[in-house]
Amino acid sequence: MAQLNLTTCPYCGVGCGIEAQLEEGRIVDVKGDSEHPANYGRLCVKGSALAETLGHHGRLTRPRVDGVEVDWDTALASVASRLHTAREAHGNEALAAYLSGQLLTEDYYVANKLFKGFLGTPHLDTNSRLCMASAVAAYKRSLGADAVPCSYEDIEDAELVVLVGSNLAWNHPVLFQRLRVAKNRNPLMRVVVIDPRVTDSCELADLYLGIRPGSDARLFNGLLAWMAKKKRLNQVFVERFTTGLEEALAAAQEDDASVEAVAKDCDVDAERLETFYYWFASQLHVVTLYSQGINQSTSGTEKCHAIINCHLAGGKIGLSGAGPFSITGQPNAMGGREVGGLANQLAAHMDYEHPGAIERVTRFWSTPSLAPSLPSSPGHKAVQLFDAIERGEVKALWIMATNPLASLPDANRVRAAIERCPLVIVSECMADTDLVAMADIVLPASGWSEKDGTVTNSERRISRQRGLLSPPGEARHDWWIISRVAERMGYGEAFCYQHPWEIFDEHARLSAFENDAEHQLRLFNLSGLVGLGHEGYDALKPIQWPVTPEAPRGTARLFEDGIFATATGKARIWPVKPQGPQQALSKAFPLRLNSGRVRDQWHTMTRTARSARLMNHRAEPFVDVHEADAKALGLREHSLAWVRAATGEMRARVRISPAQRQGEVFVPIHWTDRFCLAGRAGSLYQSLTDPLSGQPESKHGAVALTAL
Ligand code: SF4
Repeated sequence: MAQLNLTTCPYCGVGCGIEAQLEEGRIVDVKGDSEHPANYGRLCVKGSALAETLGHHGRLTRPRVDGVEVDWDTALASVASRLHTAREAHGNEALAAYLSGQLLTEDYYVANKLFKGFLGTPHLDTNSRLCMASAVAAYKRSLGADAVPCSYEDIEDAELVVLVGSNLAWNHPVLFQRLRVAKNRNPLMRVVVIDPRVTDSCELADLYLGIRPGSDARLFNGLLAWMAKKKRLNQVFVERFTTGLEEALAAAQEDDASVEAVAKDCDVDAERLETFYYWFASQLHVVTLYSQGINQSTSGTEKCHAIINCHLAGGKIGLSGAGPFSITGQPNAMGGREVGGLANQLAAHMDYEHPGAIERVTRFWSTPSLAPSLPSSPGHKAVQLFDAIERGEVKALWIMATNPLASLPDANRVRAAIERCPLVIVSECMADTDLVAMADIVLPASGWSEKDGTVTNSERRISRQRGLLSPPGEARHDWWIISRVAERMGYGEAFCYQHPWEIFDEHARLSAFENDAEHQLRLFNLSGLVGLGHEGYDALKPIQWPVTPEAPRGTARLFEDGIFATATGKARIWPVKPQGPQQALSKAFPLRLNSGRVRDQWHTMTRTARSARLMNHRAEPFVDVHEADAKALGLREHSLAWVRAATGEMRARVRISPAQRQGEVFVPIHWTDRFCLAGRAGSLYQSLTDPLSGQPESKHGAVALTAL
């Protein structure tokens, strides 16, 4: 007899609900959950192929210590004693953890509590740093909190949707489907795509601006100046609800702010640019969707500010169909931030600098006989963490559910850094990865369809991911592994969890604990989800935070009352000084490198490569190149080429593409040495980061292309 079960897709930040059909202990089919508000029954090709990607082949099934398979007791004791030894010899800060947006919120919570709370090291960061860190930094500085103001419904209700640095059609396909339906329903809706590449998202574009890479802040600064000049600012909103407009306008006008000058700097047609400015200024209901094309930059935070500034100055926020909307890449990038998964956070959206935060978390995590020892200042952000490992400062590193060898910039240096680290612990599902091969201790973890917990999608919606199948062999849930290590290190009283609902309940209680004084923290409040118990947790329906007794059904849109989460209650319009990419082009490396996901693959393809139909979309690593560049370099369509940078190289199939601007190339991020000895896109980027967010500049490399 078939049985239906509801869960959430493990791939992108849309967070689609899934109905899985189980037969005899196997998932035989999946379809979209018709009641889940993220997708209302829709799925993209990746989500709909999930049943094809399951199976125990290639999975890690037993723990390993120093290359020898052992039982869990031995493995956990080994992790605990080696962490203890490293800490005794070198201090708390010799320990570090690197987590992932693939983890569930409960896993994240327990890892954060162990490392920051009881091991006393601030060095716990996550691959979410590569995803939305710049957007987070800008939201906090402008709106007062890491709080995405909009809902997916706002995209459908908008009169103008601006996609900038986002190939929504490939990276968030169900949102793109929703946008298409909304546009068909409302013929007056306009879509503008701003991107150096002509992507599939242009299918819906009424206007396309193929800008020079990295010129986004100049373009939006130009918009702010244009709105002021044309008297299109929302003066009432600006005066009542914001500060900083004058300084921001002065900065925007520092460079020649004429449409012609901005168009020249952005390398777009002036008339088309002014059309965009006019459309933006004329509509109140504008949603600007942005993603890694904005965030992954050495000036990513500034670019986000430039976008948010225009929304604030036009009063296009806090109302239906309006707002600056950063779309996360990963399924639980936001859930990780909720529990303090970034090195600059403590827990529950509290940062170190929030007054009283350290004491508050200490009080909450204390037990009758245990007191946590929280660090007093932030730890290393992802790229800097691996720099510290390279310098030999970190003696024990625990990596969970991610492969920094593939995703971090200057990946060859990351490999060398990990090789230097005396103790490397890896929690992972798959047996055959280059990172697993380097680990001293390997811990087999459960994966999607086995794990049980919650994730939060791009619109702040918490959904249940449900454990429908048993993990293979001796694989265990991440929260279980971390908790049992904590017990063996003497912290059992604080980590006696037996089920994820207990962790979720504690997480919800912490979000509400002494949380009544500051609006900034009140925004992240799950008090309405405290005390669900096992049954209530199992039955939890998707819900957007904050969830409080006053808002028991969650909160679709923030800042509707015009009160922002800053100390003054007013949003801050920040002065922005546009900067170009820091990775300089040269004679040796004359081409600008861009990279990203392809439609049917996910990260390092450990799951998606198992489906033939997903592999058929793009079967091998490729490099998209403009026809004139290919001709000048003697490269033919379908030939093989080296893509070389100062930091590394990869092999790829040449695709001559009209979508590319001349002088710019594009490669996918998914392939690693595991597939066809291709090399890694991550090795082609220098490890330069945004000074505020720590997000690396993974869209603006400098490379050369030669025939292979
Ligand atoms: Fe999964 Fe994203 Fe596709 Fe939805 S859009 S089915 S979350 S990959």
